[in-house]
Amino acid sequence: MAAMARRVVFFTGAGISKESGIPTYRGAGGTWGEYDYRAVACQRAFERDPEGVWTFHRARRAMVAACPPNAAHHAIARFARAHPTVVITQNIDGLHEAAGTPDAIELHGSLWRLRCEACGQARANRDVPLADTRCDCDCGDPTPRHWRPDITWFEDPMDMTRLARAQQAADDADVLVSVGTSGAVYPAAEIPVRAKQRGAYLVEINPETTPISTICDEVLRGPATRSVPEWIARFETIG
Ligand code: NAD
Repeated sequence: MAAMARRVVFFTGAGISKESGIPTYRGAGGTWGEYDYRAVACQRAFERDPEGVWTFHRARRAMVAACPPNAAHHAIARFARAHPTVVITQNIDGLHEAAGTPDAIELHGSLWRLRCEACGQARANRDVPLADTRCDCDCGDPTPRHWRPDITWFEDPMDMTRLARAQQAADDADVLVSVGTSGAVYPAAEIPVRAKQRGAYLVEINPETTPISTICDEVLRGPATRSVPEWIARFETIG
C-alpha cells in the first residue's frame, strides 16, 4: 500500500486536542456533560439570549487560547508542508492553524471567526475575550444584530462548501488517518468510511475502539501526541 501512497488526509476530532488541555465532547469531563447546549450552543438560544451565548463562547475562547498546539498538531503541520496532504478537522479550536497547517478544512467552523446572521459574511477575529459582539458588517441589513460565532452549533445545517471539499479529499485520498474522533457526529463521521470505500488505506489513532475500527487497515491505540509522530516517522521512512 504505502509505497504507492501519495495523497494523505488527516481527519481529526476532539481527541487530538485533549493533550493540549481542551476537553473532548463525550466522556468524563466532556463539555456537554457540564453544559446544556440548548442554553448556550444553538441558534434558538442565540436568538433568545445572545449575551448569554456570547458569555459561554467568551469563556471558551479564553480557555482555548491558553491551550497550545501539541506534538500531534505540530507533526501533522510539518508533514503537510512536505507532502500532498489535506487536513480535515471537526474541531473549532484553531490548533491546526496555530501549529502551521495551511488551509485545514474546519468542518464545524471556528471559535476564531464571526459570522453575520443576515448575509452569512464571515470575519476572522482573535480577540480574547471578544468585548464587543455587535455586528458591523457592510451588508446593509437594518436590524441591529450580534455577530454569531462561525460554528456549526447543535441543530445547525452543515456548511455544504466545506463538506463538499472534505468529501472530495476523501474521494482522492490514498491514505486517510483518523485521529481522536469517536465517529458519532454525522455527516462528518462518513468521511473515513467514504475514503475506505473509494479504496484508501485507512488508519485509526485512538486509545479507544470506535465504529470504524473494524474496517481500518491499521490501528494505533495510543494517545495522539505519541502515535501521530510515530505513524508519520514510519510512513516517511518506509513509505
Ligand atoms: P468526541 O468527544 O466524540 O470523541 C473524542 C475521541 O477522542 C474519543 O474517541 C476518544 O477515545 C479519543 N481520545 C481521547 N483522548 C485521546 C488522545 N489523547 N489521543 C487520541 N484520541 C483520544 O469527539 P469528536 O468525535 O471530535 O466529536 C465531537 C464534536 O464536538 C466534534 O464535532 C467537534 O467539533 C466538537 N468538539 C470540538 C472540540 C475542539 O475544538 N477541541 C472539543 C470538543 C468537542
